[in-house]
Amino acid sequence: MKYDYDLIAIGAGSGGLSVVERAAEYGKKCAVVEAKKLGGTCVNIGCVPKKVMWFGAHIAEALRDASSFGFEIEQKGFDWSHLVKQREQYIENITTWYDGYMADKGVDILQGWGSFVDEHTVSVDGKVYTAETIVIAPGGKPLIPKETENSELGLSSDGFFALTEQPKKVAVIGSGYIAVELAGVFQALGTQTTLVSRKDLVLRGFDDMIRENLTEAMLASGCEKVYHFAVKKLERQEDGSLTLYSTNDQILSGFDEVIWAVGRETVVEPLALEKVDLEVDNRGFISVDDSHKTAVDNIYAIGDVTGQPQLTPVAIRAGRYLAERLYNNKPNLKLNLSHVPTVVFSHPPIGTIGLAEHDARSQYGQENVKVYTSIFTPMRYAFTEHQTKTALKLVVAGEEEKVVGIHIIGDGADEMLQGFAVAVQMGATKADLDATIAIHPSSSEELVTMR
Ligand code: NDP
Repeated sequence: MKYDYDLIAIGAGSGGLSVVERAAEYGKKCAVVEAKKLGGTCVNIGCVPKKVMWFGAHIAEALRDASSFGFEIEQKGFDWSHLVKQREQYIENITTWYDGYMADKGVDILQGWGSFVDEHTVSVDGKVYTAETIVIAPGGKPLIPKETENSELGLSSDGFFALTEQPKKVAVIGSGYIAVELAGVFQALGTQTTLVSRKDLVLRGFDDMIRENLTEAMLASGCEKVYHFAVKKLERQEDGSLTLYSTNDQILSGFDEVIWAVGRETVVEPLALEKVDLEVDNRGFISVDDSHKTAVDNIYAIGDVTGQPQLTPVAIRAGRYLAERLYNNKPNLKLNLSHVPTVVFSHPPIGTIGLAEHDARSQYGQENVKVYTSIFTPMRYAFTEHQTKTALKLVVAGEEEKVVGIHIIGDGADEMLQGFAVAVQMGATKADLDATIAIHPSSSEELVTMR
């Protein structure tokens, strides 16, 4: 063989592991370069540990409501460090499994930072390896705004997962996925939580019904919400607490921890892209065509570094399809990003696919879009003191009422969406949903019975 490997992936996260796994199944000699742990952000400091914390928060909510169902229980406390220990053990098991799995597939793990020497050569901590094809899949890291004075006093989501003690009072700065997910976990587990956003409602870009209902639910859970607070400075006080100052002279104080959740940036510096004449765009992304090929013929990029939706299943699909095109004679198997279902593990969770109502109206024309909504208190909260609503919206377009958006917030939304995503992917109309027999009693039945 002319090269050491058929394929080297730089980054052993969701994208990198997927492409080498599938390529190895087709008999290709592969290696994956990783400076940290196998599994990348999702497994180690993202989706997986987050979901464990989310389950913990759910149990706290069930305990809160248990007396309404006749349980006489006394909650003596909650041991954050116990949950974190269990969580980390679980993750350790996954990464150990990955080690064995990759070995079974014959994939070499090259431990260290990978950087280009030329278009067929990667240096990993000084040792060089060559490959016919190289896939860039380095993922990203949390963004901490440099323009904010003392911003380093705040933690990122990485810092959240490193917390072994439960803070009593936190501020979470931001209003996207991570901000609402972490704020929800903290609040449910008993940390007094303030969500600080520089604008107003959370989750910009989502359907307004989702944004309004989530904000309402977060406030009802006891989470404080501070709007129009653009953080200018963080300051550590003598008692160790943190104070936030805004650009319009507001002050928030007394926090044990402050968490930044204001987006993520790509990790491209170690790659030495200049060695292969590749550049990132002004947002730090590497441009790819619809085959995930970069401007260099044998170099591909997948996952967060491409600017495509920063979601594990998107990176996995990109990696697998790339291997299928390269090694299984399926040149037309391309990633279709027109219907990407997504779940926000907030409290309550959100499931959404397709266009928000405002986007559908601007895309199809005001008069060509119709919405069906349903907002109710689900049976789970029928006689509990704390009540959390469920809200669902179908966005349909044209005379045939094609479903172009489904938006759900409420208990079970996270598990409800996947099946409906299949229907949207297949081009379902409102009539198709209506023709489906409902499951009763459930919240999801609303989606096939709306009038
Ligand atoms: P997001 O892009 O989701 O949200 C970041 C938001 O923070 C911005 O939209 C902005 O909202 C606000 N913001 C930006 N800068 C500042 C600032 N300086 N001060 C205050 N607020 C600011 O980023 P996340 O970090 O939450 O998540 C990154 C990505 O990771 C997500 O987009 C998602 O793709 C992925 N992810 C997916 C999850 C899932 O699938 N469940 C879970 C977690 C992450 P505004 O402009 O309204 O102020």
